[in-house]
Amino acid sequence: MLTLLRKIIESVIAAPNLQDAMHNLVVKTKESLNADCCSIYLAEPNEKRFRLVSSDGLSQDAVGKTILHYGDGLVGYVGKKLEVINLADATAHPNFKYLPEVGEDCFRSFLGVPIVDQRQLLGVLVVQQKEPRKFDESDESFIVTLAAQLASKVAHAQMLNQMKIERCFSKPIKGIAASNGQSVARAFVWYPQLDLDHVVVTHTDDVFTQVELFKQAIFQVQLDLDTLMLRINQTSSKNETSEILEIYSMMINDVSFSEKIVKAISEQKIMAVSAVKIVCEEMISKLADGGSRYMQDRTVDIRDVAQRLLSKLAHNQAHNYDLNTPVILVAEEVSASLLVEIPTKVLKGVVSLKGSVNSHAAIMARSLNIPAVMGVQIPLDAVDKKILVLDGTKGEILIEPDSAVREEYEEIIRRRRHMQEMVEKEFCQPVVSTDGQRVWVALNAGLDVDMKKEEKSFLDGVGLYRTEIQFMLQSSFPTEVEQQGFYAEFLRSFSGMPVCMRTLDVGGDKRLPYFKVEEINPALGWRGIRMTLDNQSILLSQYKAMLRASVGLDNLNIMIPMVTSVDEVMDAKRILDDAYQEVLDEIKCEGKTLKYPKFGVMIEVPSMLFILEDVAPLVDFFSIGTNDLTQYMLAVDRSNSRVSHIYTPYHPAVLRVLREIGRKISELGSKVDVCGEMCGGVMGMVILLAFGYRIFSMNLSSIAKIKYVIRRIDISQITRIVEENDLKDIEALKARLSDYISGLDLQRFVSE
Ligand code: PEP
Ligand code: MG
Repeated sequence: MLTLLRKIIESVIAAPNLQDAMHNLVVKTKESLNADCCSIYLAEPNEKRFRLVSSDGLSQDAVGKTILHYGDGLVGYVGKKLEVINLADATAHPNFKYLPEVGEDCFRSFLGVPIVDQRQLLGVLVVQQKEPRKFDESDESFIVTLAAQLASKVAHAQMLNQMKIERCFSKPIKGIAASNGQSVARAFVWYPQLDLDHVVVTHTDDVFTQVELFKQAIFQVQLDLDTLMLRINQTSSKNETSEILEIYSMMINDVSFSEKIVKAISEQKIMAVSAVKIVCEEMISKLADGGSRYMQDRTVDIRDVAQRLLSKLAHNQAHNYDLNTPVILVAEEVSASLLVEIPTKVLKGVVSLKGSVNSHAAIMARSLNIPAVMGVQIPLDAVDKKILVLDGTKGEILIEPDSAVREEYEEIIRRRRHMQEMVEKEFCQPVVSTDGQRVWVALNAGLDVDMKKEEKSFLDGVGLYRTEIQFMLQSSFPTEVEQQGFYAEFLRSFSGMPVCMRTLDVGGDKRLPYFKVEEINPALGWRGIRMTLDNQSILLSQYKAMLRASVGLDNLNIMIPMVTSVDEVMDAKRILDDAYQEVLDEIKCEGKTLKYPKFGVMIEVPSMLFILEDVAPLVDFFSIGTNDLTQYMLAVDRSNSRVSHIYTPYHPAVLRVLREIGRKISELGSKVDVCGEMCGGVMGMVILLAFGYRIFSMNLSSIAKIKYVIRRIDISQITRIVEENDLKDIEALKARLSDYISGLDLQRFVSE
């Protein structure tokens, strides 16, 4: 049964269009269940009716014509109840309706299943039998599985159809608002890298083009390698990385290597990517058989060179982009590492089919002040190179809108810029509320920010420096020396103010291109401090690089992410002690001193609430990561657009936990800040102020606005409003706070 099921699903997925997919499904299902008829009715919600769209068993004349209104007949009944209806004698059911035109008179039994996608009824799948037959449980689950599979195919096809109907895509396509702002630019569709293991060998008649594409790819990889080597040689002396790049370069320039691939393309009449796969895999297997460590290491080099060629080939084949003009990046899944690859000067917006408001790519888009929409359903090929209007505040995109709509958006962009200029005028003013309370606003960063030194001096330091962003930019783990270079540059550019560097937080949706970890449940897996404690050399060298970088600057704080237990804190602290001692010994002979950094932990796993009193004596501060705390409190993947409607820090449980953490930490007399995205929004920040928090760290794009708002509010009044609410009806709380904010003429900042 399982094999049959798999075969049907495969044929549905492989079908070139919905009609063929449905035809395959009805024919194969009827056969597999030994039934006499299988049919699909699709919903037409505007007309509140179902239409028979495919059948093996009913009259073919009726297909496309027969209509059942919602609630009519057994099909209507399945749609209304949204449940499986299994009847041995359908004619005895009060909802049975005889439809003479479909030739249904001979069927007695009925098994109907709703086809539902994202809570929307799309249709009904029906199996019928001439004899009275009660379908058994395995038949039911078989057909339920198929209905679920069909649902996504139908939903996708409907979306495409919708676009065709609304010619020029004039209606907005809804997604998740992930980073505020609007932009108008051409779509640049990014296709994921081809993976050497997953290349399928494909034949071609156009050998000439494939050879040309391969030659271009060789040239481009060489250019990339030269640029990389130049960059490394400028920043440091010859090191392991530059040696590896030289080996790659030799391989790329090796005529016999290129000749082998060209020969494979021409003789076997295969695509260039297929030839790269065949030739490189053959080389890898020969070397791997050699056995020696040196030979094994070379296989890694070949794999890496092959991978570089594949990614160039994949790109050249489909695109020829000019990354000198503004673009809106569109991809199946925009990752943080992909975002950092596109030059910020041309990146005007981000559209990701997968992902949600607190995926790391969304956070990065906010920190770069680039509008973003996530979880939007569009066919990548259909938008490629088209002009898009992206509204990150509403979470919508428009494809090739007419000029009047474009002008309207260009006006919104001008107005927004004006508002930004207005709040920025107060950037240098002290952050004190109208009732005289001082609030500290620090910066979240992953790379150095585009700010003048004097502007930086009006920040209350850097509350979160995400070290993983630098790691994502490399093609292998950066060496200690390389890391020291990044950290020193960053600490220096913020000299005189505290900079909190967080140790490597990879895992979950933050992946390193050169360190692939396959996990079924990555958000609950090998993340943050769990991974670096298992690879202590990574943690030790990161600490040492940070400490060395801080010599003479003394502005370094260090914190660790994803902490779950006291043991993790003790282990991480012990390694920091070792790193400190090592660096101190090194620099002592040079007559230098080293300040021990303040050491903190992030509160992002709910278990922390219950061990605060045990952790507090071990650390200098706590930092609340509301992004992950929300994810783990509500057991909802922060980057999964399917469940994004459940992800919110405005859940009573999340708010009560935040209130409780604030209360406990103040009792313990410890220091705490909030560095999650919640504090960069006006509503979130206002609630956190009412809970007693006074230190925040946020993206640059939020700082001016948050400072502007805090300087106009009365914190004691906000605290009263929040205290009057029992944190049960959060909508009512938000409405009251909104009224208060509107009264100060600050309402427009709430949606920003
Ligand atoms: C958080 O989880 O709130 C946080 C600041 O860390 P990150 O978003 O990098 O996981
Ligand atoms: Mg986090």
